[in-house]
Amino acid sequence: MSRMDAVVLEEWGGDLTVREVERPEPAPGEVRVDVRACGVTRTIENAVRGGLSDDPGLTPRIPGHEFAGVVDAVGDGVTDVAVGDRVLAYFYLTCGRCDRCRRGDTNQCTDFGGWFGVHRDGAYADATTIPASNVLPLPDGASFAEGAVAADGLATPLHVCDRTGVGDDDTVLVLGAAGRIGVHLSKLAAARGAHVLAADVHDDRLAHVDAVTPDAVTPVDARGDDFPERVRAATPYGEGPTVVVDTVGDLETLRDAWAALAMGGQVVTLTTHHERSFAPLLKEFVVTEASVVGSRYATKDEVVRAARLLADDRVEVDDARTVDLAGVPEYHRDLRAGDAYGMAVLEP
Ligand SMILES: [Zn+2]
Repeated sequence: MSRMDAVVLEEWGGDLTVREVERPEPAPGEVRVDVRACGVTRTIENAVRGGLSDDPGLTPRIPGHEFAGVVDAVGDGVTDVAVGDRVLAYFYLTCGRCDRCRRGDTNQCTDFGGWFGVHRDGAYADATTIPASNVLPLPDGASFAEGAVAADGLATPLHVCDRTGVGDDDTVLVLGAAGRIGVHLSKLAAARGAHVLAADVHDDRLAHVDAVTPDAVTPVDARGDDFPERVRAATPYGEGPTVVVDTVGDLETLRDAWAALAMGGQVVTLTTHHERSFAPLLKEFVVTEASVVGSRYATKDEVVRAARLLADDRVEVDDARTVDLAGVPEYHRDLRAGDAYGMAVLEP
């Protein structure tokens, strides 16, 4: 049995350590992927802390789900994926048989099997095994690092844009714009012709947003009581944002954004805080025809579309910091301490 290096979590909420493990063999219906790039992100840090599951029976665990690589072995019964295929991964372990899966709404699977990197070992390793139905084609024009970004960092914003129909008549206010979801959402909405107001709270984060996004994106300081007025004033026709996307879950900022919202506007929530709720009065929904919608990851189709946007240079990603396996625990410590935003890319 050959060995490989991996980043291992011994218990939820614990520290990550790099050690040798057995190189996994693909079971029937699975493939083994030589990992070439894997995002090291806040979503994974949330999973490491037990935010998706804290079942002790699931540890020790190799985390990591936002990855791309090359198939190097296939298990029995796999006919639609071959050794040598360039692939990127789908995060959700879906059944493939329920009504939602068969209709293509794979993010709404009603027989959900959990998350890759949580309910089975993930991609913080030289190689990983994954159901063949969870790998999708990585277009030739996309690098492995771009594939890792597409798998979640760009696919999730693409789903938000699909949910809300963002187009050239919209002004999109992004709360938490300096994070990787915020940056990619700002770029994607701008690429669809929307005006974008990119809100965040620290000067260095606002400077980062300004540096990495196109001219159609205007940074807005989310601090201060006059935030709703400044947001309205910054919208091209003074009507307020038509779409607000919240990647943070700060209730005060969310209430401010609701106050600034255009008639008929939509607030999209992406956060999964267990004990926070946002509940405007019923009459406010009627008077303004505003709506609050949730957005859950992305469909397999959207993951492939996200990869194609990057392959064709219709959306650009910035050069992320690259780390090796030994650098992953340290980057997670930075994420945990709030010292890092955006993402790093693991190249094992
Ligand atoms: Zn299903």
